[in-house]
Amino acid sequence: MNTILVTGGAGYIGSHACKLLARAGYVPVTFDNLSTGWASAVKFGPFVQGDLLDKAALAAAFAEFRPIAVMHFGALSQVGEATRDPGLYWRNNVCGSLNLIEAMAEAGCADMVFSSTCATYGDQDGVILNEDSPQYPLNAYGASKLAVEAMLRDFGKSHGLNSVIFRYFNVAGADPEAEIGEWHQPETHLIPVMIEAAAGKRPALIIHGTDYPTDDGTCVRDYVHVMDLVDAHLKGLEWLRAGHGSRVFNLGTGVGFSVAEVIRQCRAGTGRKVPHEFGPRREGDAAALVSGSTRANDELGWRAERSSLKLMIEDAWRWYQTGGFSG
Ligand code: UDP
Repeated sequence: MNTILVTGGAGYIGSHACKLLARAGYVPVTFDNLSTGWASAVKFGPFVQGDLLDKAALAAAFAEFRPIAVMHFGALSQVGEATRDPGLYWRNNVCGSLNLIEAMAEAGCADMVFSSTCATYGDQDGVILNEDSPQYPLNAYGASKLAVEAMLRDFGKSHGLNSVIFRYFNVAGADPEAEIGEWHQPETHLIPVMIEAAAGKRPALIIHGTDYPTDDGTCVRDYVHVMDLVDAHLKGLEWLRAGHGSRVFNLGTGVGFSVAEVIRQCRAGTGRKVPHEFGPRREGDAAALVSGSTRANDELGWRAERSSLKLMIEDAWRWYQTGGFSG
């Protein structure tokens, strides 16, 4: 059987991965506690409602479904929340991953594709980031992901665990067929917040900080379409199954856009202007995070074909108009 255990499969990126896995002939089994995900996002394979902190639930899922590999998306991922409550992030993201990795070792499952983040690099003054750049996370979210990267390396040495680690830059957009999309409550990410403001669901988008050392003073990020991102995961899975061993890849386009530029482009994607106001910096934010790597292109044959800002905003807007998830 081609079963893949997908932690966080009810969440934004995990649900898109399940859609692509199912399309490629795999059976994606979602393992998710629904703390931030949605049962109605699980449409492409079986669903186990379980928590990564519950070792018995993990062991039961491995025994029942016997996955050949794991895609590990299940994590908390908000910089602001992580800065306010680091313990929550260390417990959930680090202890949860340790339980998962140990459950894999016990079940004899040796391949994992892991969601890491460019937040592990921290702020490096406009330096273009590649996989060998030093990692100095600025917040507990990045620190928790960096700790799991180290854990994967250790279990690689001791237990033969193979991992493809993807360090995501900023993920945006939605399934172009609008079956699934990004739906957080409350929403904190730039593009969906901007869309809510454009739709009149919130009075204004607050720009967090205008005095950064960037061209227009707002933070610069490298945005990747979620469909491109999960396509890389499929390629990462094939890489592991072909026996190429553990590897780290950045997933970004190499092009950065400031918050102000993203707002300007909203009009092209939605036909609407975004009411916005200027606010203070958000603690934990780096001024600029842009990938300087072509490793995923060169070694996995990955192309970020859908990752124009216009398409990401258009797809997110189409999804928003479906009314999103509930329950
Ligand atoms: N941002 C903003 N207003 C918002 C949400 C985000 O100005 O309501 C900024 C945020 O400070 C960061 C960028 O947009 O510079 C991307 O933030 P997001 O939370 O989407 O992703 P992150 O970079 O934190 O992973």
